[in-house]
Amino acid sequence: MGSIGSNLQEVKRRIAAACALAGRDANIFTRAPAPGAFDAPPCGVTLLAVSKTWPAAALREAHAAGQQAFGENQVQEALAKIEALADLRARLQWHLIGPLQSNKTRAVAEQFDWVHSVDRLKIAERLAEQRPAGLPPLDLCLQVNISGEASKSGVAPADLRALAHAVVALPAERVRLRGLMAIPAPATGRDAQRAPHRELAALLAVLRGDGLALDTLSMGMSDDLEAAVLEGATVVRVGSAIFGGRPRA
Ligand SMILES: *Cc1c(COP(=O)(O)O)cnc(C)c1O
Repeated sequence: MGSIGSNLQEVKRRIAAACALAGRDANIFTRAPAPGAFDAPPCGVTLLAVSKTWPAAALREAHAAGQQAFGENQVQEALAKIEALADLRARLQWHLIGPLQSNKTRAVAEQFDWVHSVDRLKIAERLAEQRPAGLPPLDLCLQVNISGEASKSGVAPADLRALAHAVVALPAERVRLRGLMAIPAPATGRDAQRAPHRELAALLAVLRGDGLALDTLSMGMSDDLEAAVLEGATVVRVGSAIFGGRPRA
């Protein structure tokens, strides 16, 4: 592994190479700009740096190398980093990508910019109620259990459409449904990796066909970001390829 700065450059190079292979040069959906786009992201794919388990100093280093969007999967850990990096708040975007319990929604509604892991209406309703009026709407993705794993969170594909239509009916000045997120079961080989990403893209297409103005496919991690970009990812969530390996659970 190189420095955080050189790792970021390498990940961006991988994203750009996958975009070139896919013939993509812009956000493939109609509604621009892509999420997190303080800077125009390469070929419409926003790089979310997944900083879970890493201390605030590592995020500061990534920010110094140009990174603005950070993904965290535990609310308490994220809140501590948001506080530690309060001096940079206006230049950072905070994305919750891990499970959210009802008793933590208020802090998330107050402190985050995005939640990728909404998988039931009650959570979206609480976020809408608790999003402070002075802030822009909280951007939401619905997490889909695309590989049908019993142990994984996420709405079942069969229940997605009803959930999406209920979430878009919530007050638009508080929450804004932007798209879908998935964490497919690990797979080896480009074709096997592409299959679940293609399924998520197809689910988004159904919702767009219903008239929902969704522009975000949050899919692809360190090991499969090329497969995700080839299937239309607009946000890739990359941790270990930027910050280094973490102890695996
Ligand atoms: C940890 C995590 C990632 C990043 O995984 P890497 O393999 O380290 O890139 C992406 N998405 C979610 C939801 C995660 O929890």
